[in-house]
Amino acid sequence: MELTPTQYYERVLAHVGPDGRLGPQETAAWTTFPYEPENLRVRVFDPPVVPEPERRGVAAADCSTCSSWDRGIWRNERFRVSLMDPSGVPVEVLLTIREHVDFTELGDGDAAEQGQLLVHLARLVEHLPYVARAHVDRWGDGSYHSHVFVSGRPEGQLQLRGTLGVLWWDILPAVPAELAAGYARTLARGLCERFGGEVLIEDDGDPDGAHR
Ligand SMILES: [Zn+2]
Repeated sequence: MELTPTQYYERVLAHVGPDGRLGPQETAAWTTFPYEPENLRVRVFDPPVVPEPERRGVAAADCSTCSSWDRGIWRNERFRVSLMDPSGVPVEVLLTIREHVDFTELGDGDAAEQGQLLVHLARLVEHLPYVARAHVDRWGDGSYHSHVFVSGRPEGQLQLRGTLGVLWWDILPAVPAELAAGYARTLARGLCERFGGEVLIEDDGDPDGAHR
């Protein structure tokens, strides 16, 4: 069985109410949902856009990851870790590969190395003070060049658990830049001890934050 984009859309339309909208579902009642469910209104569901618009940086010449390879907190010959601009979570870093490829185009050797890097990064994040969990996310809908986010959830903040945690990031005030930078230095040194490569963030340096 297959479901074409139009069939998928028409199937959704068959479930909308008199106002043309789907109703809020169980997710809105989760304690991790950042908004109170009363009076919540689901957006009108858009029809499919096919073919989809091109993602940012499909051509290497237009790719911000390729053009900023010197920026980051750690790198070796094939991979780099950079620090995202401070948000509501104590630290968020981005793992990228030097080669201009999408996540699904990584060769088996690079995929294996990336897997090891991600596990060690997550472990290092979970060893940071007052960080309860490392979250690892890959969406890939914005930029073409492979990038995986690793972030740390602040200890004790149970509303930030799970998939809805990202909705809180822009609501919460950003953590101090020096906190994220200090954590980033710990991560970079930890990666250097385990995988070699070089630490790119100075002791008192202000890292170039990566932007979404
Ligand atoms: Zn690139």
